[in-house]
Amino acid sequence: MSAKALEILKTVYGYDAFRGPQARIVEHLIAGNNAFVLMPTGGGKSLCYQIPAIARPGMGLIVSPLLALMADQVSALRQAGVKAAALNSDLPPEERRDLWEAIETGGLDLLYVAPETLLRGGVLERLGRARLSLIAIDEAHCLSQWGHDFRPSYRQLDILARAFPTTPRMALTATADAPTRGEILAHLGIAEADAFIAGFDRPNIRYAIAEKDNPRAQLKEFLRRHEGESGIVYCLSKRKTDETAAWLRAEGYDALAYHAGMDKAEKEANQLRFQHGEAVVMVATIAFGMGIDKPDVRFVAHLDLPGSLEAYYQETGRAGRDGLPSDTLMLYGHEDIALRSRFIEESDAPEQRKRTERQKLDSLLGLAETAGCRRQVLLSYFGDHCEPCGNCDTCLEPPQLFDGTIAAQKALSCIYRTGERFGQAYVVDVLLGVENDRIAQFGHDKISTFGIGTEHDGRLWRAILRQLIALRLVEVDHAGHGGLSIAPAGREFLRDKPDLMLRVPPPRRARRGKVAGS
Ligand code: ADP
Ligand code: ZN
Repeated sequence: MSAKALEILKTVYGYDAFRGPQARIVEHLIAGNNAFVLMPTGGGKSLCYQIPAIARPGMGLIVSPLLALMADQVSALRQAGVKAAALNSDLPPEERRDLWEAIETGGLDLLYVAPETLLRGGVLERLGRARLSLIAIDEAHCLSQWGHDFRPSYRQLDILARAFPTTPRMALTATADAPTRGEILAHLGIAEADAFIAGFDRPNIRYAIAEKDNPRAQLKEFLRRHEGESGIVYCLSKRKTDETAAWLRAEGYDALAYHAGMDKAEKEANQLRFQHGEAVVMVATIAFGMGIDKPDVRFVAHLDLPGSLEAYYQETGRAGRDGLPSDTLMLYGHEDIALRSRFIEESDAPEQRKRTERQKLDSLLGLAETAGCRRQVLLSYFGDHCEPCGNCDTCLEPPQLFDGTIAAQKALSCIYRTGERFGQAYVVDVLLGVENDRIAQFGHDKISTFGIGTEHDGRLWRAILRQLIALRLVEVDHAGHGGLSIAPAGREFLRDKPDLMLRVPPPRRARRGKVAGS
């Protein structure tokens, strides 16, 4: 490790050691290479560009999206004796002149700038007269057109590679799935080999995902393990949030609600009570998230499928900031898949955006239906990795597998024979040979697949269908009614009939006592 970097770490920041991948990244940049850094919020990204920028000759140029963020960083750096400044468009003329003089005479270590300011006429040319140690583009995911934080001016930052071809460039972000990552690398001209992805693991968080079969009873059992502790219960809708909070209060919990339909004062009051409370259960929609700063959130439960794997990671990540063991539970069922698919299909988003959203949903279903370690699936989504963790439900109780080849064939043919338009419940009824008016009305009690699945019960068939969806053999329809159809891979499967191992849903736990109202 370069002695200079270590010295800066000690004298400027007062830290004794680099954390995680910081040392490797800092070395890599000091040596003059480009870098892409994907690390979760709080992972320690700032040091990764600040230290090489200070250690290398010249001034570091930092592109950052928010003035407030820049101002905080600049004042912290100045207090630590670093010559840092922000170039922003509303500086008084005199300060502006002084700042440019400092830039051009090598009087600065770090210069922060918003992309819009950087791209304004003449700025790049003048910066060309300064000696740059490196260029860092913070929050680089803002250049992704399909992301939620798209910022058109970020798109134009590809000019930096042409304007300063010999200056090391780095891009940093906390949120980037594989397509966004590829987009950032390609756009800024950074090689795959220069990517550093690490720090996503939250080893103290236990992951568990279960079929939603009796959500209130399942939630109660989960909460029973957390008496006297605070946590969050996420619901999809405002109504369900209110109802669940009221139910939990009736059950004796100190439960509060939080969603966008409440007035500001009430939301603030509830957030404060959660923040300072000892054993508060916050029942919330995703509106509750920004600015939660409670270190001892001991559990996070999802009563509905989250929006994406990133959302799941972020929301569960609100547990255990203090590093102590924390617990999570996500419940989901076929209705969730149908609902999420409908959200996607009914939105006004352009087709390409919908395609990304569908892929994101698939990734989340892959996590939910995996027979392997949840943490491995979760981390690999971000490009990070770990050994089987021993702290997730599938590690602790490895799911039982069975040869599902025949079952998959039966399910697929049943979907095919009923015309690829019915939902899960109907398909399962036909497989089980249930006699009802609806099935008779469509004449499906006469087809060859009627009653061919009586060797399994309805719960197992539902689990099989969910896995076929997660494996992309079956599609949930695009019209939004939850109808199942056979995906291209499903047709191949019917033709080639390869072996397929599927997981058996874990047995329902015997529950202590009776649960009312569920
Ligand atoms: P990010 O930008 O990735 O969200 P920050 O750079 O703001 O994260 O760092 C998060 C926190 O971790 C900060 O308080 C920072 O001072 C601290 N930190 C970063 N690196 C180290 C280190 N090597 N040792 C101790 N604390 C560190
Ligand atoms: Zn695991």
